[in-house]
Amino acid sequence: MQIIKTLSELDLYLDCAKTLGKTIGFVPTMGALHRGHASLIEASKAKDDLTICSIFVNPTQFNESSDLDKYPRTPERDALILEMLKTDALFMPEATEIYPEKAIESPAFQLSHLTTVLEGYYRPGHFDGVIEVMHRLLTLMQADRVYMGLKDFQQQAIITTMLEQMEVNTTLVPCSIIRETDGLAMSSRNVRLTEEQRSVATTIYHTLIEAKEKWSRPEAASEIQRSATETLEKAGFKVDYFEIVNARTLQAATSFEEVTRACVAAWLGEIRLIDNMEL
Ligand code: AMP
Repeated sequence: MQIIKTLSELDLYLDCAKTLGKTIGFVPTMGALHRGHASLIEASKAKDDLTICSIFVNPTQFNESSDLDKYPRTPERDALILEMLKTDALFMPEATEIYPEKAIESPAFQLSHLTTVLEGYYRPGHFDGVIEVMHRLLTLMQADRVYMGLKDFQQQAIITTMLEQMEVNTTLVPCSIIRETDGLAMSSRNVRLTEEQRSVATTIYHTLIEAKEKWSRPEAASEIQRSATETLEKAGFKVDYFEIVNARTLQAATSFEEVTRACVAAWLGEIRLIDNMEL
């Protein structure tokens, strides 16, 4: 596997790939890799000639510096995992490569209210950072496809809309959420859960399943949301939101026919977990 640290190395790699007519699959991550990330690499390998994974813990998308400091970093382990998955290249830039002194402005994307609801409401500024780094990475990579997880449902909705407005020929491929055997969505943050928190964490999954069952009856969204929040709070969570939204607009779902998604964010102690499910 080629380890690439600078933009000039990346340019050379992409130039060679282009010369050979190879398609590029891009998997952006913040590292501390788990099977969720591995599924994106596998999806890319199944479709594209070359798979490039990036690991960059993007400082601008953390709205709390303590969260950035505590974010797990396991570069040697990550590189081994990527080797085992037969990833073609790992792009591991320093922050100065992505954010040079002479700032590169991101265009103003028309994202309507996709960035202000759910995560955008509870983590002000978070999506500004995500948009900034993804604009930079997608422009650099000029990939044929970018593989992103539905675990971050709102993020992939925003990047899909952003790509429609960018001058790159990259298609976003949404990939299913990979879960632990008890249903907890895999996340780099899960390693920070205590044993007790870890056993409680699966409640999130159960509330989503329950919402799916109730929705198919169809019950009022507000009643589902109220009861899911109550279940989570009883289990020890502090709930930011449990919302049933239109999967396209991310606005509150108003009818049973819409493609809907239940989205949840809740804290267990200092750890914030997010998850979602199509209803
Ligand atoms: P992260 O390293 O958390 O920024 O995530 C990098 C990519 O992996 C994003 O596209 C995430 O949506 C995706 N991802 C994270 N966890 C999972 C999971 N459990 N299943 C599928 N994709 C995931």
